[in-house]
Parts: sequence; structure tokens; C-alpha cells
Amino acid sequence: MCNTCLKQQTDQLKEARTFLKGIPRFTIKERTFAQEAEAFLKQHLLDRVFINNAINLSYLSHCVSRQVGCVIALDGRTLVTGVNGTSQGDVNCDELFPAKGFDPVAHRKWSDDNEIHAELNAINFAAKHGISLDGATLYCSLQPCMQCSKNLPAVGIKRIVFDTFYDRVDNFSDQVEYLARKGVIIEKLLSDEEFAQKISEISNAFSYGASNA
Ligand SMILES: [Zn+2]
Ligand SMILES: [Zn+2]
Repeated sequence: MCNTCLKQQTDQLKEARTFLKGIPRFTIKERTFAQEAEAFLKQHLLDRVFINNAINLSYLSHCVSRQVGCVIALDGRTLVTGVNGTSQGDVNCDELFPAKGFDPVAHRKWSDDNEIHAELNAINFAAKHGISLDGATLYCSLQPCMQCSKNLPAVGIKRIVFDTFYDRVDNFSDQVEYLARKGVIIEKLLSDEEFAQKISEISNAFSYGASNA
């Protein structure tokens, strides 16, 4: 999503929230629904902005296979960021492998030994600089792998939001269940279509409520 589209979407979200605030809330049911809808919009706005930041960061990665970016945030503020790549001072992936037509098996073998995933790069930076990640949300352009998923609860991450499914995670429901056992929520950010659907559900519910008032 480009910055203009992001700006448009955030403006729409803000408008929708203002609209909700202006609706008279006569019944407890309507009031509860309006509060839930408002909370949903607020959360989605925040998630969308941070996921876009993570996607923008991913363009800095030197990996020829997958470029991944992540942001770890608390209460709507960025604590730390990371992209996938080698340790500081080491040769970069794109200095060893061609951007197109590289051998995926050779890359995978080298990458497993040399490249650090975006999530762990962010955690490492936080550890080095004494930044607590307790209670934070991790936003990642790609679904975290199970290796990273094992580490995220240990540093206090409580929620994970990602943009794209990763084909190296075999079963998303198993991952959801694994993380839930450790008190961590993982969710895929709603697509633009899913979000539009949700918005129309909200406005339909309000017009239904109005016609029955
Ligand atoms: Zn690579
Ligand atoms: Zn990983």
C-alpha cells in the first residue's frame, strides 16, 4: 500500500470513528455495539499504520529470497524495529547471491547459518540497548516462523499481527494454539476487502438499529 492509499484509509477510519461518536446511544445494546465498533476501528487503524511501517522497513533487507520487516510497539509507540539479514559487519545476502536465479537450496543452507530473522534482530537490538518488550505487540510483514514464535512470548510479546502468510509455517491453527497457551494472541491483519466487509456490517447494524428505533 502506498502512502497516499494509507493516508486515504486512515482518513476513512477517522471519519468512521467520528460518525460512530455522533450517533445517539439510546439503548445499552446500541451503546455497547457502538463502543465495540469504535474500539475495532481504533485498533485496526493502529494495526494498519504499524504493519505499513513494517512493510516499508522490509525494503531495507538485503536478503535475495524474502525481505521481512517488523516493528515492536507498545501503546501505539515504536520501541524497536528489525529486518532480516546477517549480523553487523558480515557479508550481506545480496553480495553473495544474485537477485534473480539464485539456487534456493544453497541460499537456504547459507541463510540458516548466517541470516537472522527480522523478529530476532529486533529482540537482539532491544536486549543490547536495555529496552523492555514486556506487554508489547509485534507487527511483522510476514507471519513469524515457529523458531521466532518460540522466542516471542519469552521476551514479553503479548500480541502478534502479520500481513502475509509464510509457507514455511505448516499449520496456522497449531501456531495460534501454541501461542495462546503462552498467553499470546496472533492474528493476520484484515485485508482491504475483509475490512470493507466489516465496515459495511457495522453500518448495516446501525441502519437496522435506526429503522427499529
Ligand atoms: Zn538471504
Ligand atoms: Zn522467524
